[in-house]
Amino acid sequence: MADRYAVIGNPVAHSKSPEIHAEFAHQTGQDLVYVRLAAPREGFLAEVKRFRERGGRGLNVTVPFKEEAFRACSRLSDRAKFAEAVNTLSFEGEAVVGNNTDGVGFVRDLEKNLGCPLVGRRVLLMGAGGTARGILMPMISRAPAMVAIANRTRERAQALAQKFGLFGRVEAAGYDELAGRQFDIVVNSTSASLSGELPPLPEGLFAEGALAYEMMYGKGYTPFLEFARAQGAARVSDGIGMLVEQAAESFFIWRGVRPDTAPVVTRLMLEDGVVPR
Ligand code: NDP
Repeated sequence: MADRYAVIGNPVAHSKSPEIHAEFAHQTGQDLVYVRLAAPREGFLAEVKRFRERGGRGLNVTVPFKEEAFRACSRLSDRAKFAEAVNTLSFEGEAVVGNNTDGVGFVRDLEKNLGCPLVGRRVLLMGAGGTARGILMPMISRAPAMVAIANRTRERAQALAQKFGLFGRVEAAGYDELAGRQFDIVVNSTSASLSGELPPLPEGLFAEGALAYEMMYGKGYTPFLEFARAQGAARVSDGIGMLVEQAAESFFIWRGVRPDTAPVVTRLMLEDGVVPR
């Protein structure tokens, strides 16, 4: 019987993960089935237990369960420890092993797919939620010149800067303190775009050749990407490549094989709402 995997979340109906993993499995000749698993808000652990009892081998975890998954693991990778959130569960005998592939997915999309190395770059990271926390360590490990974290609730940005400042030049900044500064890479990891909003960014933020990266995908040119284009950012991208790269890393953790992500990104680019790169 084929090995069973799933993405668990609420909502989860929109998830592209089943199609992505089906393509990876086809490409690499792996015998597996990957489905969507909708869990009630209060029923995450019960759903995971049921899936394991039916022989499930691993789960991707999405909104809003990544922190709960982190707490439920018997073993954690370093990436998961830094992120304090888990998006990949592997069931190994009695052990529940937690990993986080969001950060490595983001960095691969940036460096490999978009050809934008982090080394020596000035980065502005907007947002201090779960995803920002997950990408900070993989990003810092690529030696950017500095990372400024701006967040609506300043204390959350400060807490992240304090924690990750031990490993590189990381600072917290209020949106109102960004005037007059320039960055090479500006990343929107807020959920503001979901409600059609734009964090209060000043003009003149994008350095020559700068890249604007919107983590959200499938919503076309968000207010942030529109702002970036109007402000002269050299390149803009949404998070579709990150989605595929984080999936590829999960696939590697589970199956020990690395799929080729390029054809999958290319195919997804043809879908409605995906921003051309
Ligand atoms: P969280 O809910 O953990 O964090 C949301 C963040 O957005 C907080 O920092 C919050 O600030 C900020 N925020 C929300 N609304 C506004 C607003 N109107 N103006 C300014 N800031 C705002 O979300 P996640 O970190 O889990 O997700 C962030 C984004 O990343 C989402 O859009 C998600 O879709 C995307 N994502 C993409 C992935 C991919 O593979 N491409 C993978 C994972 C996530 P405050 O602290 O003040 O509340």
